[in-house]
Amino acid sequence: MSTTAVPSLFTRIMAGEIPADIVFENERIIAFRDIAPKAPVHLLVVPKTAEFANVTELAAADPALLAEVIAIVQQLADEHCGGQYRLVFNTGPLAGQTIFHVHAHLLGGPLPEGSLGQ
Ligand code: 5GP
Repeated sequence: MSTTAVPSLFTRIMAGEIPADIVFENERIIAFRDIAPKAPVHLLVVPKTAEFANVTELAAADPALLAEVIAIVQQLADEHCGGQYRLVFNTGPLAGQTIFHVHAHLLGGPLPEGSLGQ
């Protein structure tokens, strides 16, 4: 159960209150294009539950849901960027996290070789 009174941006997107370019949705996960893409393909893959602020919490509490996120990432990468991708979970403000509702950044190429700069 979320302890925050204010719905996250992602919860509002799921509710249809904020428009998004949705590329995948099932009962537990939604994925849509990042509004400020950092790569030719930049998707956010988001568990619908607002219970977990970050991937550490998700992994500890519901590893099956994390595994499902990874499976959907691969499916989306197959569809959008040749099956190859970079996966980023910003975890904490010092790591650049701004939305505290766990989400994966799926970045697809071509990406600069060896670069983690974006
Ligand atoms: P974080 O910084 O928390 O890891 O990632 C949040 C992401 O949400 C950022 O990459 C940011 O560009 C994206 N974002 C912020 N506002 C919106 C929005 O209204 N719509 C979409 N589709 N993405 C958003």
